[in-house]
Amino acid sequence: MAWMLLAAAFAAGLIAWPFLHKAREQRRLRALQARPIEPARWAMLRAALPVLDRLSPELRALYELRLKEFLAYKRYYGCDGLEVSEDMRWLIAAQACLLVLRPESGTFPSLRSVLVYPSVFEVPPMPAPVEFGEFELVDDEADERIGESHDSGRVILSWADVEAALDGDPVNVVVHEFAHQLDASDAGAPQLSDYTRWSAVMQAEYDRLHEQASPVLDDYGLEGPGEFFAVASEAYFQQGAALKRCHASLYELLRGFYRIDTA
Ligand SMILES: [Zn+2]
Repeated sequence: MAWMLLAAAFAAGLIAWPFLHKAREQRRLRALQARPIEPARWAMLRAALPVLDRLSPELRALYELRLKEFLAYKRYYGCDGLEVSEDMRWLIAAQACLLVLRPESGTFPSLRSVLVYPSVFEVPPMPAPVEFGEFELVDDEADERIGESHDSGRVILSWADVEAALDGDPVNVVVHEFAHQLDASDAGAPQLSDYTRWSAVMQAEYDRLHEQASPVLDDYGLEGPGEFFAVASEAYFQQGAALKRCHASLYELLRGFYRIDTA
């Protein structure tokens, strides 16, 4: 009898779980919404990211919610002795959340942690030797990186390069790696309801970059569709006006997606 009661209680728990989970999620979001971002904190963010002044009231409300959710639920880890300060946490989140201003996008739902190195970091060499005729070419040089994005829910960043982007460098490692997070299948596209226009514009611009170097888009975008989307996103946020001038249709496509006008 006790076992049957236990089994019934277990089954009831399984049925109730999604409802309880949803109710808890709603409570959690309401609690975040109720806590406004302090004016001093907001002023610091605006000074670092002037683009925030272009948020409409509707977008700003969504942006604030994303930001609070990001800071509440993503874990930061300092690497190589780096201590991740409160300002660093906010400045990374503030750039990442500019990429998720669509109501349906969520706050990088599969991302769990952000690892921050003081500057460029090394990744181990490729383990498998490449055979080439009679010789064996072994790539034993460690690779240097400024950022990485993993499907397993991790983004890795070099803080020196995060700062460089805030100082106006055309390379924006936060935008680049978080654009990869939006494009988990590495197909050069985030989740959309219709890919017709997206594919046409992206393909045309990719082909154009292949034929001729661009003053705005880094050639690294030719590594594949995923890199093209990441590089185009960097140009969108770092050099909006120039991107609009030189690649108008790409700019318009990304404006429709990111919703904030960076030109
Ligand atoms: Zn990349």
